[in-house]
Amino acid sequence: MENYFVSPILDKIRKKDLNDDFKLAHEAAMDYVSISNSRRVFPSKESVKNLKVFEELLGDLPTDNNDIIHMLHKFGSPATVMQTGGRYFGFVTGGILPSALTSKWLVDTWDQNSAMYVMSPISAKLEEVTEKWLIDILGLPEGTVAGFVNGSSTAIMIGLNTARNYVYNNLGYDVIKKGLGGAPKIKVVVGAQAHSTVFKALSIIGLGKDNIIKVPVDDQGRILVEELPEIGKDTLLVLQAGNVNTGSFDKFDEIIDLANEKGAYVHIDGAFGLWAKASSKFDNLTRGMEKADSWSTDGHKTLNVPYDNGMIFCKHRDMLINSMHMTGSYIILSDERDSMLYTSDMSRRARAIDVWTSLKGLGRKGVEELVYELHSKANYFSELLKEGGLEILNDVVFNQVLVRFESDEKTKELIRLVQASGVCWVGGAKHDDKEVIRISVSSYRTTYEDVEISAKNIIEIADSLR
Ligand SMILES: *Cc1c(COP(=O)(O)O)cnc(C)c1O
Repeated sequence: MENYFVSPILDKIRKKDLNDDFKLAHEAAMDYVSISNSRRVFPSKESVKNLKVFEELLGDLPTDNNDIIHMLHKFGSPATVMQTGGRYFGFVTGGILPSALTSKWLVDTWDQNSAMYVMSPISAKLEEVTEKWLIDILGLPEGTVAGFVNGSSTAIMIGLNTARNYVYNNLGYDVIKKGLGGAPKIKVVVGAQAHSTVFKALSIIGLGKDNIIKVPVDDQGRILVEELPEIGKDTLLVLQAGNVNTGSFDKFDEIIDLANEKGAYVHIDGAFGLWAKASSKFDNLTRGMEKADSWSTDGHKTLNVPYDNGMIFCKHRDMLINSMHMTGSYIILSDERDSMLYTSDMSRRARAIDVWTSLKGLGRKGVEELVYELHSKANYFSELLKEGGLEILNDVVFNQVLVRFESDEKTKELIRLVQASGVCWVGGAKHDDKEVIRISVSSYRTTYEDVEISAKNIIEIADSLR
């Protein structure tokens, strides 16, 4: 054996007892959790400045795990954005449920590749179970399949790619084989305020950004039904459950009935809004949603699953699989669930387990209450801000609140000062060509007290600008 190389570095790594490292990581994590509601939401200038310590050349020799964890906690933790506390309202970002966080530590040590059943029976089993649970919670039709992906961007891309292939199939053209050169024209119809990832996905799958018919919307961003163009079996229609600013929902029942009658394909982008289906209190928003062909959503927003979790649901199992299928002499498919058939990736972490732990940790009723509580807190937030003299621009139908303060300039200045205050964090956006504050109540950690503290902070700063 002496002719073969043994790395002294790896030899040392292999022999290391991990007990101390795990203990240290655990202590650092608990330390972080303990301050999650008292620390500034956006890191201090000093913490951000201290990130300079990471700007080093990679050393020749290994660094001890202990030192790595120490460095991460000392300089990394203070420079995080505290979105696991209760006062982060930026973008649409959920927190992380304890059941998912703690189980993830164990599951990460498994380091499973969940591409195929033969690579991880446990991953395949939990993915199969989670798929069933989700289809039940989201009220999707029997026979619907789920692909577990890294987020809605990918889920939308897979959904629209499947939609494209389905529509071409309707027109008697095998686009999977023949490609887009020489393909007949298809009609892509979306609401004027579709999320930008929809346009990105359409461009990636070769349908182009300029060929899209954008349907005019009302003041809440909902498609105006009477403005829909002629649709038919050459049409791919994209609807929205949860407008990125207002949180509004397209009128599914009416629009999808029409689409189905004409043979058009319907995809719903429900990155955060699809979860409204979990509570009957939102029946007026979600009615008819189940009549679409495919749906994309995130786990890492409304459901408070850790990041890197989105899902594509499609009721045309064969078309989804035909669209994603690949072969190779070493690929061993089984009669069990082979996850890679439903997604664009092959090797992948067992991310569905995060969804499983989150759902199991909440229960059916917990999911229902989570969704409704976020809405209640968004309502309370908007009431307080209105009382404080700020203008609320949207109907708070779900978890989003759009706020405006006098003028574009004043609104932007208010956002800047609130972000710098560290008390809470809100983002900005443009809505109907106006600068707005965009508040998203998305974390289970947000309490009514957090809402009061944050609203007070925003109102006080606004008053100082009057
Ligand atoms: C967040 C979001 C997306 C993109 O999702 P990612 O998980 O960030 O890829 C798409 N559509 C809507 C409506 C969203 O809110």
